[in-house]
Amino acid sequence: MYFAMKSIGNENEEKIKSIAHESDRWKFLYDIAKAYGFEGIQIGSNIGTDLYVEEFKLDLNNIPDYFGDLKFTLHLGGHNGFTNEKDCEAFDKKLESAFKIAAKHNFHDISIHPPVDAEGFTPDKRKISEEYFDKTIMPWEKEALRSNISLSMESHDYGVYFLFDGLHEYERFIDKHPDLGVLIDISHNYYDNYSEDEIINILGDKNVKGLHISDALRNVDVRKGTHLAIGDGTVDFSKLLNHFKDVLNLYGALEIVTNNDGISSNLRALRNIVT
Ligand SMILES: [Zn+2]
Repeated sequence: MYFAMKSIGNENEEKIKSIAHESDRWKFLYDIAKAYGFEGIQIGSNIGTDLYVEEFKLDLNNIPDYFGDLKFTLHLGGHNGFTNEKDCEAFDKKLESAFKIAAKHNFHDISIHPPVDAEGFTPDKRKISEEYFDKTIMPWEKEALRSNISLSMESHDYGVYFLFDGLHEYERFIDKHPDLGVLIDISHNYYDNYSEDEIINILGDKNVKGLHISDALRNVDVRKGTHLAIGDGTVDFSKLLNHFKDVLNLYGALEIVTNNDGISSNLRALRNIVT
């Protein structure tokens, strides 16, 4: 496995937003990834907002060639509903442009969230949504195979808001779609009461492409319990990382809300954990 920058550190976030020219923002991003010692970058949405594109104002069509020595993955985040043909068309368009950018800049994985319903899925809505999602994603699984750019779905699955309620529901869909990759969000799955062993038992033999890494604490508000620095929660990273470390080209993207020093020390801690 290799480690990828996703969170860039609080001070760096402020800094990049203050840089006037886009080309200078790209250079800044490259320099900090190198300075931290990351082997790759996961570009895209982060913790509720579309960080790189909307907040850092980076146009993915303008990625400079010098990024070629970093491994790239693209995270598209959430998609609403899938309750009608329009939702499917919007998703198709998003995936079409994502695969174009990925092919142009050598991204090796594109990841998505399962469909989300802000009002909560009823059993009926869930059934319709899964039918639409199922048929819409299939051509893109074929495109992933054809282009050698994997397409992964993050293991977000709690309660009524995500299409899959629980990791076993997620697993049921994944088993029907063996070409779809798995992106395990350690923080959220652990927070949702899946132990390290359960995560390994349910997802360990799937087509795992990446990990979203941050610590978690249970039985507190979700904002206080997820995206924590390594050691601020109770996840046994040694068990999880060492289980997955030999998966070819697996990325471990740090989704940790912390300052610049925190990113450095967390990356160091994670490297020490992987044996
Ligand atoms: Zn995540």
